[in-house]
Amino acid sequence: MGFKERVVLPLAKRWISGVSMDSAIEDAKKANSKGIGAIVNFLGEEIKDPRIADAHADEYLRLQEKLHDGAVNGFASVKLTQLGLGADEDGMRRRLERIAANAERLGQLLWIDMEGSKFTDKTVKTYLEVHSRHQGVGVALQAYARRSESDLKSILDDGGKVRLVKGAYKESPDFVFPTRQEVNRSFERLMATLFERGNGFAIGTHDSVLIERARALAEPSHADFRFELLKGIRDETKDELVKSGYRVSEYLPYGDSWYAYSKRRITEHPSNVWLLLRSLV
Ligand SMILES: Cc1cc2nc3c(=O)[nH]c(=O)nc-3n(C[C@H](O)[C@H](O)[C@H](O)COP(=O)(O)OP(=O)(O)OC[C@H]3O[C@@H](n4cnc5c(N)ncnc54)[C@H](O)[C@@H]3O)c2cc1C
Repeated sequence: MGFKERVVLPLAKRWISGVSMDSAIEDAKKANSKGIGAIVNFLGEEIKDPRIADAHADEYLRLQEKLHDGAVNGFASVKLTQLGLGADEDGMRRRLERIAANAERLGQLLWIDMEGSKFTDKTVKTYLEVHSRHQGVGVALQAYARRSESDLKSILDDGGKVRLVKGAYKESPDFVFPTRQEVNRSFERLMATLFERGNGFAIGTHDSVLIERARALAEPSHADFRFELLKGIRDETKDELVKSGYRVSEYLPYGDSWYAYSKRRITEHPSNVWLLLRSLV
């Protein structure tokens, strides 16, 4: 067993369910028992080999069936580069179509995650295309991205569903607002538009100021929305939101490509680096 598996994997299990699909289903059932829905992601990005992209699509189809057969309140969230975006776009569209059609058949929603800036335009276009056939598909938009305001408008004009998040990738200031304050202000602006015009949208943040702001907007608007938070972060907030009557879902990643995701979560918050260092001594 290498360093990553020995040292980082046990720590990473705070943010990921585990390596197997069963670990994610188990976490989804635990979340359900607390009144929390599940959003399950099979980890993997930037897949170039069509056979591996096919295997990822098959994994999602099996995951959807397992969620359905286990009567789990949950659905899948997929990254388009794991289905071949960036390598084999026709193949990616075919794979996404299968997953979206299966979600519809099983009465589940399907989320598309937003990745780094080189995929944003294609992700939005692919989303609009698939949403015209499958209304239960939604896409994440990143508040740090300058273009998100116009993307949100196009998506809402088409009656689409959006999960609003701050954004997790390292990007140049040409593409993103460079300061935390600007990102938070952008989040507030986009969120206000969602509460005005959105339907079936999600507020994906752990930021207590933004969560309070969402609650203030929710009261008068009676909007159809849910809060979405990541596994391992702000569990007390999830419980409190459920108690207050809000719909809440927890994002549960799993799979052997756990390292890149965990690294993002660890480095996003300084206290996690201390956790990692402490686990080494
Ligand atoms: C359901 C969901 C789906 C997402 N999907 C995408 C996506 O498709 N594309 C994308 O680019 N990004 C996605 N993200 C990640 C998102 O962009 C942010 O990187 C992440 O949510 C941290 O931002 P924040 O809004 O919580 O605010 P922050 O200001 O980063 O954090 C607010 C507070 O939350 C707590 N916190 C946040 N992160 C951590 C952490 N890692 N460890 C410990 N405490 C933490 C801290 O107390 C912090 O003060 C998603 C996030 C969620 C919740």
